[in-house]
Amino acid sequence: MGPAHIKTGYDVVIVGAGAAGLSTALGLLDAAGSGAKPSVLVISKLQPLRSHTGSAEGGIAASLGNEEQDDWRWHYYDTVKGGDWLVDQDAAKLLARQARSTVIGLEHAGVAFSRREDGRISQRRFGGHTADFGGRPVKRAAYAADRIGHRILSSLWQQCLKRGVTFADEWYVTDLVLSATGTSVEGLVALDENTGTVHTIRARALALCTGGAGRLFHTTSNSWDLTGDGMALALDAGLALEDAELIQFHPTGLGHTGILLSEAARGEGGVLRNADGDPFMHRYAPRHGDLAARDVISRSIAAEVDQGRGVTDPGDPDGPRDCVWLDLRGISAQVMHARLPQVDETIRRYAGLNPGHDLVPVKPTAHYMMGGIPIDTDGHVLSWQGGQAQVVDGLYAAGECSCVGVHGANRLGGNSLLDACLFGRRAGSDAYRFVTMPAAGGGSHNHELLDQRAGRRRQDVTDLLARAGKKVEDPGEDGDRRDSTVPAPEDGNPYRLAEQLGRLMDRTLAVRCEAEGISSALNRLDHELDPAADRLHPHDPSPVWNQELTAVFETRSLLRLARAALQASLERKESRGSFKRLDYPHRDDDNYLRHSLVNRTGHIGWSPVHIEDFPPGSRRY
Ligand SMILES: Cc1cc2nc3c(=O)[nH]c(=O)nc-3n(C[C@H](O)[C@H](O)[C@H](O)COP(=O)(O)OP(=O)(O)OC[C@H]3O[C@@H](n4cnc5c(N)ncnc54)[C@H](O)[C@@H]3O)c2cc1C
Repeated sequence: MGPAHIKTGYDVVIVGAGAAGLSTALGLLDAAGSGAKPSVLVISKLQPLRSHTGSAEGGIAASLGNEEQDDWRWHYYDTVKGGDWLVDQDAAKLLARQARSTVIGLEHAGVAFSRREDGRISQRRFGGHTADFGGRPVKRAAYAADRIGHRILSSLWQQCLKRGVTFADEWYVTDLVLSATGTSVEGLVALDENTGTVHTIRARALALCTGGAGRLFHTTSNSWDLTGDGMALALDAGLALEDAELIQFHPTGLGHTGILLSEAARGEGGVLRNADGDPFMHRYAPRHGDLAARDVISRSIAAEVDQGRGVTDPGDPDGPRDCVWLDLRGISAQVMHARLPQVDETIRRYAGLNPGHDLVPVKPTAHYMMGGIPIDTDGHVLSWQGGQAQVVDGLYAAGECSCVGVHGANRLGGNSLLDACLFGRRAGSDAYRFVTMPAAGGGSHNHELLDQRAGRRRQDVTDLLARAGKKVEDPGEDGDRRDSTVPAPEDGNPYRLAEQLGRLMDRTLAVRCEAEGISSALNRLDHELDPAADRLHPHDPSPVWNQELTAVFETRSLLRLARAALQASLERKESRGSFKRLDYPHRDDDNYLRHSLVNRTGHIGWSPVHIEDFPPGSRRY
């Protein structure tokens, strides 16, 4: 039995309490209107307000036109072009068209946007947002100072509480259980982190809203929880992931932490310099220099580092020369204080440097997963069999763990909060329709399947805890933190294995990749890291709030996902958007204008891109 307020079955269970999960819950309640409300449970491995959505700073894109003329068609075009044409245009069209009502809906839910003098929502410039189909920059990102995500997250959460949604906070979902045929849902198995007990929860409809997987990389802007659990659950359930190789890197992560330093730092006059002090961006992007697109800057930094002109992070003096300098010394203290307070604080607090005097080490940081669990525009998860997409009855996904196809090979700034809120609501609304259909769907109600899985998971937890008690080895000064060629840890420590995986992925897939490196990383997974995963265990035998126990599950998720991302990267033999193959440096529309699909066996399939209005390279609507 779980805590008194958690039942063993619900009409709809939502996994994840970020923008996507909460929007799904609210979309469902709105669809129910004044009619009977289905029972809804939101499960989150974190207290909901700690979800990564709360870290979003910059803004949410919508052609409100409050500051200057704007048009949803321009937003639509920017989204398609930004994604380097690998965007499903039906979905992108919907995204751009419904952005306005989504932002107004958020305003009505209580989101305290920054406002203009006339009371309307303020909007700011973001890279890639243009008027007149690439003609000139336009202010399209609605914002709330530099904490839009925090405002969205708290407002949506409060709405859910007000409307009586039940939350299972600090419960970790370990298993997604589909029917034996894989065509409908039964429910899931979850670990109550507070007690270490394993529970089954039956569901007629289930929505996966578990966020991204930046923790695949050691250097990432993502919080520690973004270990791709939902994507790994989908793989385990026999589903394929779409575009798993397409990962966005933000060029200015702070030194060894990867914490994001906003683009605004360069907007206000910050300059990137190499080890010789040379402001190198003008060589790579003569027109835009330090304000070129994110992927262009990330690749330029990588090229400088590859040519031996990188610098060492002063916080890690024996570390590799894999950073460049961000020079903010030309920005006055007043401007720093007024416009870049967050950047200033991050540098002082996390690097111990004074941006007024010191050069700041930066390097590209893993930021966003464009790919994920394939869904249609109503949030249905798609299973691909023999080249045909089939809806899994009652299974939904939304937000960063999903792939509706709006981000293509490179996400436009401000489009991910929009994606999570808009497609979350649509998934919730469709889930309501599904559970209230006369011949209500929802699994074969074969409790045996669920019970079997829960039994296996209980045994797994018991075994893991039984292996506890070994002393954690001190990683010491031996440098194995940074050398990914040393053997995987023998001490069963999940954090160390995740770190080694992250460093391997940094070397192999960060910003650019090539066949040899990918094959060697897969080889290392086969022979070293995966076998090491079988030896993981917590070091404290207590089942109560044993964070190392959940870290074992998270590290297993990362390993499954790393394999999928590597396999898909190997098969996409072209360069597109943020995906750069050194051995295939050009975009190849003849062969790769299509989405990859990778499953847990490593099989790669392909699905078509929906082109409606903009053939690749076009400039007009
Ligand atoms: C630093 C930073 C700045 C950003 N800035 C912007 C911006 O300005 N504009 C923009 O549009 N986008 C921005 N993004 C991207 C955007 O914030 C995210 O893509 C979006 O918030 C993801 O929302 P989500 O609901 O899908 O996931 P999240 O908010 O990450 O929520 C995931 C949820 O899943 C739960 N969960 C995960 N696994 C499990 C499990 N196994 N069991 C139970 N629960 C689980 C977690 O507890 C959490 O509640 C930024 C991202 C970062 C990292």
